[in-house]
Amino acid sequence: MIWEAKKIASGKNIGNMSTSALLLIYEKTIIPAITYNLEVWSNWQQKNWQAIEKVQAKALKQMFNLPKTTPYWGLLCELGMWNMKSRIVHKRMILLHSIARSADNRIGKEIIEDQKHRETDQCWYSQVCEEGEEYKLPVQDVGKYTKSEWKKLVKSKIMKNIVNESIIKRRQMKKLEILKNQKYERQSYLNYTSVTEVTDIIKTKLHMWDIGRNMGGNRDCIGCTREVDGISHIIHCQELKKIGMEGNKQWIEQSTLANIQKMTKFIKRYVEKRDEKDEMESNMEK
Ligand SMILES: [Zn+2]
Repeated sequence: MIWEAKKIASGKNIGNMSTSALLLIYEKTIIPAITYNLEVWSNWQQKNWQAIEKVQAKALKQMFNLPKTTPYWGLLCELGMWNMKSRIVHKRMILLHSIARSADNRIGKEIIEDQKHRETDQCWYSQVCEEGEEYKLPVQDVGKYTKSEWKKLVKSKIMKNIVNESIIKRRQMKKLEILKNQKYERQSYLNYTSVTEVTDIIKTKLHMWDIGRNMGGNRDCIGCTREVDGISHIIHCQELKKIGMEGNKQWIEQSTLANIQKMTKFIKRYVEKRDEKDEMESNMEK
């Protein structure tokens, strides 16, 4: 399905609009297929949540040709996208409201009334209550809200939760340093940049270029021959300057789109040179 979406949104057909097209197909066809009816399931365990997040993580990385180790929360933050738990909790809360407010849904209502009075923590209603507590939503009073009021409230609480979680993740992970102060929303360049270029920009922002230990490799700098720990070394390396590769620390400190693009160009040039050097050395060994 991801492959189909990529084909429809391929750069050849729509150029710079390819990213918005791909994201639109993802939200309108892929996500509904993955989350179909999941809101009626109950008794979700931690491992279930983790499994469903993995599905989205894999799909997004495939869409943008990113390495498997790309930080999921970094990607979500860049795309301003909801994680799967938020999507499912959202659907469940909307379902709760329609059951509570609709007269022609008596069976659903009866089941919930029954579950309210049963002392089990494994039914649908107890799942809703748990999530209500977690997201600070007054599920017991759901019937007092109009549909649009409830929708608005649910959305704002979920968004608050996502932003808080992403702030924690961004503080913890070194790879997310460039995103540290970024607003949690779809970055505007995504609307007018092709998928290929978006892939490069995201790789720069999330430290996903294969230039050192950050990717599990153990590569040495082509300037100073010391071990490289990631992008920050090659930007600051004095020896690289001598071979005409001068980085600028502003690129990381002021991560505007223009700076990220300059840094991406620099990194790609570095990787090219490094690969040429590797090839020459391996030819000499033969
Ligand atoms: Zn160096």
